[in-house]
Amino acid sequence: MPELPEVEVCRRLLAPKLVGRRIASVRCGPPSYFFLTPPRRLEQSLVGEPVTALERQGKYLLMALGEGRRLLLHLGMTGQLYIAGARSPRLIRRVERERLAQGSAAVESDPHTHLMLEFEDGGPGLRFRDVRKFGKVRLLAAGESDSRLDKLGRDALSVDGELLFAASRGRKVPIKTLLLDQGVLAGVGNIYADEALFLAGIRPTRPARRVTREQCARLAEQVRRVLERSIETGGSSISDYIAPDGNDGQFQNERRVYAREGEACGTCASVIKRIVIATRSSHYCPRCQR
Ligand SMILES: [Zn+2]
Repeated sequence: MPELPEVEVCRRLLAPKLVGRRIASVRCGPPSYFFLTPPRRLEQSLVGEPVTALERQGKYLLMALGEGRRLLLHLGMTGQLYIAGARSPRLIRRVERERLAQGSAAVESDPHTHLMLEFEDGGPGLRFRDVRKFGKVRLLAAGESDSRLDKLGRDALSVDGELLFAASRGRKVPIKTLLLDQGVLAGVGNIYADEALFLAGIRPTRPARRVTREQCARLAEQVRRVLERSIETGGSSISDYIAPDGNDGQFQNERRVYAREGEACGTCASVIKRIVIATRSSHYCPRCQR
C-alpha cells in the first residue's frame, strides 16, 4: 500500500511533468466506486483546465486546477499514477514486466486504467491505473473540501516534538497507536512507526502519556528521518512508475526491526520481537527499546 513516502515520490516525479500544461481530453473507465465524481462529469469538467500545482496532504494528492478547483487523487492499495509511455520495468509487477519484455505496449492502457488525461501540448498524458480500485478520484469545486482531508492531522513530514507531546498527554493508548492515528499525524504507516520507535529507543507498547517531552522530540525527529530517507531512496530507484505496493523502493533494505522478527538486532544482537498492537504487527528490540 503506498505510504506517505511513495506518494511524495510520486508527487515530486509528476509535478514537473504536469504543472503548466492544460488538459485537452479526458477518458474514464466505467463508473465504479473508484470515481467519487462520476466519470461523465470528469470528462466534461476537466477539459480546458490548467494544472497549476501538484500538492500532497498525507497520502492524498491534490492537482490544483484553474480558479481554485482541485482534483483529489488517492492511490488506495494498488494505484499507479504515471506518465504515458513510461518505461521502468523494474518497478512494474512481474506480469507486466514480462509483457514489456515481449515488446507489448499493453501497459499503456488496459481495463485497469481508469483515468486518462491528455494535454493540449500533445505530449505524453497522465494515466491512473488501479487493479483493485481502492483508489479515488474526486473533483473539488473552489473552496470545497473533502471529509477525508478534513480529518487529517499534521503532515508527518513536518511533525515536531511539541505536537506529539501535546497529543499524547492523558492518552493511555500505546504510543504506536497514537503514531498511526491519521487525525494526529497524517501519513505515518506501520513500517515507519516501527522504525521510528526503534531509532528513538521507545517500546511501541509504552502508554502514550508516559512518553516524556524529550522522548517526544526524539521520536518526532526519527519519524521525519525515516520518511525523508524513504523518499530519498524511493526517488533514486523510481523513474516514472510508482510501485503498486511500495516494496520496490530501497528503504526496505534499511529496515532495522520491521518484519525482522526472530533476527538479531543490528545494535545489540538481541532477538527482534513481533507483537500485535491494535490489530497491527509491531516489531521491536526488547533491549534497545524501553
Ligand atoms: Zn537492540
